[in-house]
Amino acid sequence: MTKILVTGGLGFIGSHICVSLLEKNYNVIVIDSLINSDEDNLLSIKKICKFSNNFSNHITFFKGDIKDKELLINIFESSIEDNNPIDAVIHLAGLKSVKESVEQPLEYWETNVFGTMILLEAMKKYNCKKIVFSSSATIYKPIIDELITENSALGPISPYGSTKLAVENMLGDLIKSKPNEWRITNLRYFNPVGAHISGLLGENPKGRPNNLFPILLKVASGEYEKLSIFGNDWPTHDGTCIRDYIHVMDLAEAHISALDLILKSSPFFLNLNIGTGKGKSVLEVVETFKKVNRCEFKYAFNSRREGDSPYVVADNRLALSKLDWKPKRNIDDMCRDAWNWKFKSKK
Ligand code: NAD
Ligand code: UDP
Repeated sequence: MTKILVTGGLGFIGSHICVSLLEKNYNVIVIDSLINSDEDNLLSIKKICKFSNNFSNHITFFKGDIKDKELLINIFESSIEDNNPIDAVIHLAGLKSVKESVEQPLEYWETNVFGTMILLEAMKKYNCKKIVFSSSATIYKPIIDELITENSALGPISPYGSTKLAVENMLGDLIKSKPNEWRITNLRYFNPVGAHISGLLGENPKGRPNNLFPILLKVASGEYEKLSIFGNDWPTHDGTCIRDYIHVMDLAEAHISALDLILKSSPFFLNLNIGTGKGKSVLEVVETFKKVNRCEFKYAFNSRREGDSPYVVADNRLALSKLDWKPKRNIDDMCRDAWNWKFKSKK
């Protein structure tokens, strides 16, 4: 049974990836410090697998930090002792708030960059040289009105984005040093949203959320009084910012395809934009959310948020051609599934 180590596997995206891996009968090991997630997600993953008879239930969880060298060594060694070594790693563990990274840059460099270095050292030691890395569209230089390709100019404007680019460079150096050994797929996510259709898994960040969807859920449920829309004077058709929202299960399925690629192909390093290629404005998201969920809530226009770009949409053609994958869910599904999770989980 192919064994995959998923770092950050109980987080928003990681937990959905675990479901997709188990659906494909992989043996899954998760390491997560729970700094931004909850062990409940493990129970939810197991519940989804139990309801779906043909899913595997091989999932093992280690609570811990990727910076903990001893723990990583333990995980790799015990897999070897069991005669079932780890075949590849999907590396999601990290801190992800743009705003927080401006306030605490060193914590971001320590976890995202130093943490990845420790992980890569352990992988090298145990000759596990296949990795799918969670990068982000924040590594690109802001551009207006054009789709972003993998060759668009790089230029992160936040410490968070800088740490993602630093890891990409580290992975690039690694493959240059041993071109015949490493297989690396670097996925640059656009805006993952939505939830598992069961309503058992969704996005539940600790602390006050900063991203649009978790805030929308709190507004729609009455927890917050209204949505503050950051700017209505941007150079877009309705004055609000446009993003490429992608359903978290489409993103999870992209990882399965990326994994197939690194398990089967010869050594390579590939950057891929993972988005739908379609942009939606904040107002369009708000109207869709209200329509599909038959709910009402208030919003007000506020000033622009510092560091925002008006238009961030992926040119996803390279991903469509390299992966046996395409996004299947639309913005209606994203709004419906997110709300279904909020409603059922009462979180
Ligand atoms: P998340 O915070 O829900 O998941 C990250 C998980 O990593 C959490 O469960 C957290 O507890 C864990 N973690 C953090 N630091 C750790 C450490 N040192 N050791 C072990 N575990 C640790 O975030 P997410 O949205 O699921 O994002 C997953 C990855 O995707 C992150 O690397 C993030 O930067 C990247 N990404 C996310 C988005 C997005 O909008 N959600 C966009 C682009 C890229
Ligand atoms: N946004 C907003 N109000 C909020 C949160 C977000 O208007 O309370 C807007 C934000 O300006 C951006 C879009 O929603 O245009 C998506 O924001 P998010 O933080 O989710 O993603 P990112 O900007 O990092 O792509």
